[in-house]
Amino acid sequence: SEWLIYSTWWVGDNISNLMQSVGASEKVFHLMDLSPSSQFMERGEKLQRLTGRIEFKNVSFHYPSRPTVSVVQHVNFVVHPSEVVAIVGLSGSGKSTLVNLLLRLYEPTNGQILIDDIPINGLDTMWWRERIGFVGQEPKLFRMDISSNIRYGCTRDVKQEEIEWAAKQAYAHDFISALPNGYETLVDDDLLSGGQKQRIAIARALLRDPKILILDEATSALDAESEHNVKGVLRSVKSDSATRSVIVIAHRLSTIQAADRIVVMDGGQIVEMGIHRELLLKDGLYARLTRKQADAMA
Ligand code: ATP
Repeated sequence: SEWLIYSTWWVGDNISNLMQSVGASEKVFHLMDLSPSSQFMERGEKLQRLTGRIEFKNVSFHYPSRPTVSVVQHVNFVVHPSEVVAIVGLSGSGKSTLVNLLLRLYEPTNGQILIDDIPINGLDTMWWRERIGFVGQEPKLFRMDISSNIRYGCTRDVKQEEIEWAAKQAYAHDFISALPNGYETLVDDDLLSGGQKQRIAIARALLRDPKILILDEATSALDAESEHNVKGVLRSVKSDSATRSVIVIAHRLSTIQAADRIVVMDGGQIVEMGIHRELLLKDGLYARLTRKQADAMA
């Protein structure tokens, strides 16, 4: 379909990855559900200066294929420019759906999403998506060398220094340099660990210098390496002179303790919001989930 061609062409890693992150049957839903308006061939506004402020304003949503199931209900939160906001909650609580709405794969059923105070549906969708770097749960690498994998989907000419800058930011430079042919090493099936693939995908996203970075931490990779990667990139983003807003969907809660705001989802609703310490003191769902994970690790 037109959509498929478009999404493959468009930064490869982003939307196609999102589709891979759901089960095969859901993938079909995903494509069928795309309403004509969400294919966005129409033109909209391109903002001169984007600060990266994102606001969900009373957003509710149900997937077109399941009109009776409200998967997001009355969601309100703001990501201020350069903030790191984490979204946490049990599986099925609606975290990925919020990201789908932000990427404009779907339109909210009610309420709206504002980008720098402009309704998202007034923006040029191509322009908007180019401002977003998305690292999905299972990053896709190709049988090409490391540099080409990092450069993949980048529409402009990039210098080797830029690739290495992105790799450093993503904590990938050291292991890449240690490979037999460095950045020219061919990526094949068992060259890299899951965590290393994730770091390459983060470098790929950062190379595009996105104003908004979205990380969907792998559910399956609940390992220390993934935690280290996500924490590392959050530190890089904070110290970077380019200001980016970051949204992290976190499955391992210890990765996001330093987030500027933690949004706790349950059954499509925000049930708690705050910083790590406040939420622990509140002794609600976040505190329970944190304790549960700590016990599981012990
Ligand atoms: P996880 O942590 O497992 O990724 P999540 O919190 O991201 O879960 P969502 O993927 O947003 O949750 O799912 C919220 C609800 O929406 C679930 O009940 C899910 O089955 C449903 N859902 C997700 N994608 C679709 C779709 N394309 N069509 C219909 N229902 C969907």
